[in-house]
Amino acid sequence: MDDLLGPPDEVVDAVVVGAGVAGMYMVHRLRGLGLSVQGFEAGSDVGGTWYWNRYPGARCDVLSVDYSYSFSGELQQEWDWSERYATQAEILAYLEHVADRYGLRRSFAFDTRVVAARLDEATLRWRVRTDTGRTLDARFFILATGSLSSASVPDIPGLDDFAGDWYHTGQWPHEGVDCAGRRIGVIGTGSSGIQSIPVLAEAAEHLFVFQRTPNYTVPARNRPLSDAERAEIKANYDDRRRRSRASGGGSVHEPYPKSALEVSEDERRAIYEEGWKAGGVLFAKTFPDQLTTLEANETARAFVAAKIRAVVKDQAVADLLVPNDHPIGTKRICTDSYYFETFNRDNVTLVDVRSAPIVAITPEGIRTTEADYALDTIVFATGFDAMTGSVLRIDIRGRGSVALADVWAGGPRTYLGLSISGFPNLFVMTGPGSPSVLANMILAAEHHADWITECIAYLKSIEALAIEATEKAQDDWVAYSNELAEQTLFPATNSWYVGANIPGKPRTFMPFIGGLGTYRTICAGIAERNYEGFRVVAAT
Ligand code: FAD
Repeated sequence: MDDLLGPPDEVVDAVVVGAGVAGMYMVHRLRGLGLSVQGFEAGSDVGGTWYWNRYPGARCDVLSVDYSYSFSGELQQEWDWSERYATQAEILAYLEHVADRYGLRRSFAFDTRVVAARLDEATLRWRVRTDTGRTLDARFFILATGSLSSASVPDIPGLDDFAGDWYHTGQWPHEGVDCAGRRIGVIGTGSSGIQSIPVLAEAAEHLFVFQRTPNYTVPARNRPLSDAERAEIKANYDDRRRRSRASGGGSVHEPYPKSALEVSEDERRAIYEEGWKAGGVLFAKTFPDQLTTLEANETARAFVAAKIRAVVKDQAVADLLVPNDHPIGTKRICTDSYYFETFNRDNVTLVDVRSAPIVAITPEGIRTTEADYALDTIVFATGFDAMTGSVLRIDIRGRGSVALADVWAGGPRTYLGLSISGFPNLFVMTGPGSPSVLANMILAAEHHADWITECIAYLKSIEALAIEATEKAQDDWVAYSNELAEQTLFPATNSWYVGANIPGKPRTFMPFIGGLGTYRTICAGIAERNYEGFRVVAAT
């Protein structure tokens, strides 16, 4: 690490890590400010999530017309989304279009992973090292490394000896996987599993779904968008975006104006039916108290349980598919196209690995405590080391050579999710402590890029050297975030929001739950008050 402080190969104003939606727009904004920027991306092209997650059935679960950049009216008007929820291929094509339109690729080095960064305390500049051996000296070090970009494959003995092939949904081969006539085992029933299982079932000779925890999923009601719908949305885009930015989750949504507990059973059922028919993740927010009051949540749970039982023919299978260990919505709620129907197929078997856990992968397949399942292909839909995984894979050292991994040993600590005390001029995009995965992440990323750009412009205007969160501001922000989270049903659930999917990961509720609109107001106020809670270091 010390050799990092030797002479650098290149000197730039800013290094941006990651070429997903966050890194792409960040580069665009910084270039607009006249900064020299070098971006790095481990993948071979732009797109981030949408470059990596090419598994069958991969789609967004926020409406495409909302899950897209809002920074340019022209871009917004010229792109036509074909469906309510675009496929991975369409979203990637969109991001490639954005990269072309703004010439973004020239600022990125692809197939290049940033492996280490060290603060030079004398200059408060960053030395950044890549796995291709480049060393850069940069004033600003910006992590757009993604909240769901560190694929997690469970440590099951025997995987290396498996005679078939295996894949993680988040690292799906670009050439695709021929599933026809194969015996496929899917491990995991989170969002990626729920999206891929119906599609894999159509191709496979037999599909075994290894389920530890059943999850709530709401029909996506995906369908093509008509010209008239697109025209209507485009005519009112500015208003739609304004309301989305001010909302809790980054898309237009009004919960029912009454508590789930103050309406009659008939009224409640009618409202849930309406939400179910509309489809999508916002079902989790049908009533305003659904995610804060267990009793209110229970009404939604009961409604969904009945829906599952009505679809699944074998009631013993339905028993296993009805979630029973968490309030609905406190794990990322999923959307699906014919997920529960898939379990009525003759070529699909649900394997309950809660009652009979997987003990090994053998050369022939998967072994549980009860049986052996012969497989040609294993699909790990086992998710990610969320929110902190990709940041901590980089060996980052700040003041006093202190490692970020040590600072975050008990869980991530940030100010606004954007900045870390002891790490001046380092910014995290959509990181822990910001709305991040609880919001429409494109709008969340745009907000961060805009805020960081304005902050850097401010530093330029007063000729300051650096900006750094104070420890007090960071402590207060962490305490405030935790306090808000504790007012909800989220922290008690074993979800990836609290790191429960990664063995040994410290348990903290990582995203800021106060809502995107509120968060934006807080961030704007802090900037207006000359970056309250930050220490600005003068140039001399
Ligand atoms: P990413 O897209 O993850 O990009 C980060 C990039 O950084 C990656 O390409 C990675 O290779 C690169 N990187 C990381 N570390 C390094 C390093 N050290 N050196 C070099 N490069 C590095 N969000 C929504 O709001 N709505 C949705 O509908 C939605 N659907 C999703 C569906 C799936 C299957 C998944 C996995 C996620 C989904 N998300 C959704 C979340 C999604 O991750 C974000 O919406 C968004 O794409 C994140 O963009 P990003 O730029 O922050 O990160």
